[in-house]
Amino acid sequence: MRKYAADKIRNVALIGHGSAGKTSLAEAMLFMAGATERLGKVEAGTTASDTEPDEVARQISINTALLSHEWEEHKINLLDTPGYTDFIGEVITGLRVADAVVLVVDGVAGPEVGTERYLEMARQAGLPVLVAVNKLDKENSDFSRVVGMLREHQRLNVIPLYLPTGAVDQFTGLVDVRQGKVYTYTEGKPSPIALPEALAAAAAAREALQEAAAEADDELTMKYLEEGELSAEEVVRGLRASTRAGKVAPAVPVSALKLVGVTALLDMIVSQLPSPAERPAVRGTNPRTGQEEERRPAESEPMASLVFKTMADPFAGRLSCFRTYSGVLHSDTTVYNANKGGKERIGQAFLPRGKQQQWVPAVPAGDLAVVAKLHETTTGDTLCDEARPLVLPGLSFPVPAMSFAVGPKQKGEEDKVAAALQRLAEEDPTLKVGTDPNTKELLLSGMGDLHLEVTVERARRKFGVEIVTGTPRVAYRETIRRAVKVQGKHKKQTGGRGQYGEVWVEFTPLERGSGFEFEDKVVGGAVPRNYIPAVEKGIREGMERGPLAGYPVVEVRASLYDGSYHSVDSSDMAFKIAGALALQKGMQEGQPMLLEPIMNVEVQVPEANMGDVIGLINSRRGRILGMEAVGSMQVVRAQVPQSEMFAFPTELRSMTQGRGSYSMSYAHYEELPEHLAQAVVAEAKERQEK
Ligand code: GDP
Repeated sequence: MRKYAADKIRNVALIGHGSAGKTSLAEAMLFMAGATERLGKVEAGTTASDTEPDEVARQISINTALLSHEWEEHKINLLDTPGYTDFIGEVITGLRVADAVVLVVDGVAGPEVGTERYLEMARQAGLPVLVAVNKLDKENSDFSRVVGMLREHQRLNVIPLYLPTGAVDQFTGLVDVRQGKVYTYTEGKPSPIALPEALAAAAAAREALQEAAAEADDELTMKYLEEGELSAEEVVRGLRASTRAGKVAPAVPVSALKLVGVTALLDMIVSQLPSPAERPAVRGTNPRTGQEEERRPAESEPMASLVFKTMADPFAGRLSCFRTYSGVLHSDTTVYNANKGGKERIGQAFLPRGKQQQWVPAVPAGDLAVVAKLHETTTGDTLCDEARPLVLPGLSFPVPAMSFAVGPKQKGEEDKVAAALQRLAEEDPTLKVGTDPNTKELLLSGMGDLHLEVTVERARRKFGVEIVTGTPRVAYRETIRRAVKVQGKHKKQTGGRGQYGEVWVEFTPLERGSGFEFEDKVVGGAVPRNYIPAVEKGIREGMERGPLAGYPVVEVRASLYDGSYHSVDSSDMAFKIAGALALQKGMQEGQPMLLEPIMNVEVQVPEANMGDVIGLINSRRGRILGMEAVGSMQVVRAQVPQSEMFAFPTELRSMTQGRGSYSMSYAHYEELPEHLAQAVVAEAKERQEK
């Protein structure tokens, strides 16, 4: 693919509720733009019919990150994001490097929980929104009803740029409201037809469009007031400005499946959405001076590129997706990783294109691409000119809230399992792999059960390892209720040189949600300076595995305020042990307690099931936060302890005959009630003894 200047590039994230049709729409767009020769179907197997499963897996993994194609002399970089909240990390990633979003909404169901959540994230990121109402070929779909719901419930000022010529079977064409023309679609390609009644029906939409465009600036407002009419070009210009400012969200009716309206959406992306050249300069920190610096989206600036996604490919090794914010990143050069402070060799940058790769010689400001085999670089790092180093703000992801013990199906493959999961964790920042300090079992932690299921499946597909998952583990934490001052003393005299270290530490509970702090308040050299890091290390290592049930200690400040040493027998090791002993004692005497993770839960159910669902949440120690109607469904928001959520999916499914759905994300930690805490402690003891 040739090089595109920043003003000819559009970086767009596709967002929407799960199964609204993002993947299908992306496929349709690539196909219409001629980037693929065949229209892939989501339904299992159809895209895979004549490829090896591994290759399919590979294509999926790359494509999820970046789908680039050309349309009308422009390059469109699509970022397809998954709709399920378990994969919120992917959405955070997509929104970080996009300049705008296309919100895909199901034309039958209307706006759903995911629609609202991701729209909110896009708004917070200040990104302009286009709306594609999809599946209008389906029974009971209704474009104007969905537009109305978006306007009313999501407070989104949706302005249709196109209207459907009809619904379901009749949805074969679009009315171009702006131009006052009607098109019918044959194999995805539009051709003009005469349909005066459809045009007449679009009169109101036309006025709304003109008004929205006129509101963009004073000049257009004057013109509209004086002449009562804007030209087609003025409408484009005005609407573009209003879209950029977030004042309106232009909409198009589509069917990804029947390829109706897909080219209209491509046209809208090019004509209505901002290019990277129109984005403000990015700010970062110069790691040498600590000063903030700016980079404009221009090729003449020093190069700075942000790695926003890392993927583990079984064939190509590590793949890093990046966006160049300023300057030009050239293939076959050496760049500087400003976060890690080291050089990286850049091989050939490329764009995933079906099963092939399209090599690109240079990636200029505003553009996105992929590069293989970077050694040190991980997600969130900035690659730049060594002479002009800059660290761009990275990406922040929520912490994993759920853990499973995992192991190999085949005895003896423990290392293989750990290695495969480690590589997957490299590509997914919301995934963590670790060892349970009590049982030495391998633990896989993520955002929810679906997330973990998919990960296990990916490990099988990509790396050929079969993994069995154990019962889910709740990620409890340990802390104390009251401040205590304790002594930690390590003394050993066994001939020769002894070991000696004594510390006095005050442990104070901190506010909920805080971590662990260490404070040095030693005066007069009671503990010599050079041993203090060892004391801190002893305490920190000890807190990774709390004394109550082996869970990490949080929300505690340790202040080292006194101690004693021996001129011959004291050592780092002796003080480290003294620190660990102090922590143990401090936890015991500070009235220890367990904290449990509480989840934000959103349940979407038909009206008729509301009572049952509320009863279910209450019986699971949940707190109802609110209820509201979203489209034809009711949404119940609640906070429920994570440990109570394991059976929830099954119960919800049977209660609503499969029509209810829910999403869950980590909220905060709270004290685990005493009677439950006892059971957790007993269980931990039992595991330890085993
Ligand atoms: P995503 O989860 O948003 O990526 O949604 P998918 O693209 O996976 O689509 C979910 C389901 O809706 C699949 O079964 C698709 O075949 C179906 N689907 C997507 N677009 C359309 C459409 O325009 N019409 C119809 N009838 N079905 C569609």
